[in-house]
Amino acid sequence: MAGESDIRTGIYVGGRWLAGHSGRSFESFNPADRDEALGTLASGDAADVEAAVQASKAAYPAWAATPVPRRADHILRVGLGLERRKEELARLMTREMGKTLRETRADIQEAIDFAFYMAGEGRRFFGQTMPSELPGKFSMTLRAPIGVVGAITPWNFPIAIPMWKLAPALLAGNTVVFKPPTDTALCAVELVAEFIETGLPDGVLNLVTGSGAEAGEALVNHPDVRAISFTGSLDVGRHIATQCAQAMKRVSLELGGKNCLIVMPDADMELAVEAAAWGAFATAGQRCTATSRILVHEKVKAAFTERLLARVARMKAGDGLDPDVEIAPVINEAQCVTVLDYIEIGKAEGARLLTGGTRLTEGGLEKGSFIAPTVFDAVSPTMRIAQEEIFGPVTALIDFADLDEAIAIANGTNYGLSASIYTRDITATFEAISRLEFGVVYVNAPTIGAEVQLPFGGTKCTGNGHREAGPQALDEFTEWKAVSVDFSGRLQRAQMDEE
Ligand code: NAP
Ligand code: MG
Repeated sequence: MAGESDIRTGIYVGGRWLAGHSGRSFESFNPADRDEALGTLASGDAADVEAAVQASKAAYPAWAATPVPRRADHILRVGLGLERRKEELARLMTREMGKTLRETRADIQEAIDFAFYMAGEGRRFFGQTMPSELPGKFSMTLRAPIGVVGAITPWNFPIAIPMWKLAPALLAGNTVVFKPPTDTALCAVELVAEFIETGLPDGVLNLVTGSGAEAGEALVNHPDVRAISFTGSLDVGRHIATQCAQAMKRVSLELGGKNCLIVMPDADMELAVEAAAWGAFATAGQRCTATSRILVHEKVKAAFTERLLARVARMKAGDGLDPDVEIAPVINEAQCVTVLDYIEIGKAEGARLLTGGTRLTEGGLEKGSFIAPTVFDAVSPTMRIAQEEIFGPVTALIDFADLDEAIAIANGTNYGLSASIYTRDITATFEAISRLEFGVVYVNAPTIGAEVQLPFGGTKCTGNGHREAGPQALDEFTEWKAVSVDFSGRLQRAQMDEE
């Protein structure tokens, strides 16, 4: 095939690595040291997406006809492959996107866990049998694949989030075109290489690296792509949903969050402080579930704030490969500017900056995109820094007087991903569980830390009602087929024939 290459170019179509139609390329950098270029990848365009979709279409009938347990074997072996390469891939991921080695190991572990979980689903690909109202008639439901699926992912979980999409999509019998983020394209190449290692038939999984504006748009708008699974920002998600609506294409969206941790007066203060610091500043706050609002009861506010600031003061920023580092870089210079802009907006709105608020440029950090862990106080719930997703190491302290007020503030944003409450009070616990309008709720645990056997997703602008992971993961990638078999030997009319 023209442009075929021995090296992993980033474009993998029909079982071959290709140079890419345009000949253009981009580089992947280390956000802790922008002088370190990690690799060059092809900038895929609409022609590359076209080839990938055609390869997916061609592979679909045979893959859809392959027994589910056999498809599941591939997923299992991807998990085993990732397990063997966990340390190597974790180091690559830390260099490519910045988060600490402990966190990148966890990212890969999550992908391994999910692969094993989904592989099990291959022998539990259940439908249901239902009674018929007519005699001599048998009814059941089956899951059917959808067709060619497009998967578009963000950079903050470079291997775990793609696995949340690729494993159930492929298990269900779909074929896939995967468009990874440019910022972590090398991690995507390594993940796809693990799928290839399992002997996946050509065309079942295709990869097109390149920008969202070119490769992403082309994938979303391709008429032969029957479903789009997207995780990313609200603005891009809304745009994709609009395009998919025009084409009557299924779309699942996992978007942003404005998550909160509620600290009640009876909370274990030490635990709540640790949870807040971890939830707000792990991955430099670049998690969709990051604790970007900390709601603290006015009675314990002073004590909590003092301890939180002491904890933040001990956080070392730097290269995630250093085991003492807790504050990783933000992903790129554009994100750095966005976060610093939000800090200025917070100050202008009248919030009080308690710590941080600046870019870190000394002590070996000058070549990276580092921002000091930032805590605002005196934040009112309607300020922009309390309403909009910042996606950086910035959190906002908000006071409340009672649980009703805390829940009203918690629910008072356009997002609804993750909420947490720290309390020992059983009534407050269950009031919070029932009234928090979030897809993920924690009691005495931080807002971050999803487990693969639980459904993941949120309410309101966080998504469009789908859930990833958990037993629900297959719903995103299957159609339900209702089947009835009449063995009575006569024409029976539902709702009309009495016997
Ligand atoms: P993003 O800018 O929306 O990008 C996400 C993906 O979409 C990337 O692969 C991007 O490609 C692509 N893209 C951009 N424009 C596109 C277009 N017009 N058409 C098709 N694809 C397009 O988000 P991000 O900055 O990577 O990730 C951060 C966001 O993801 C945050 O808002 C965060 O909350 C959200 N997130 C949500 C969850 C969840 O499950 N709820 C999980 C993690 C992250 P390029 O990067 O190559 O341009
Ligand atoms: Mg990078």
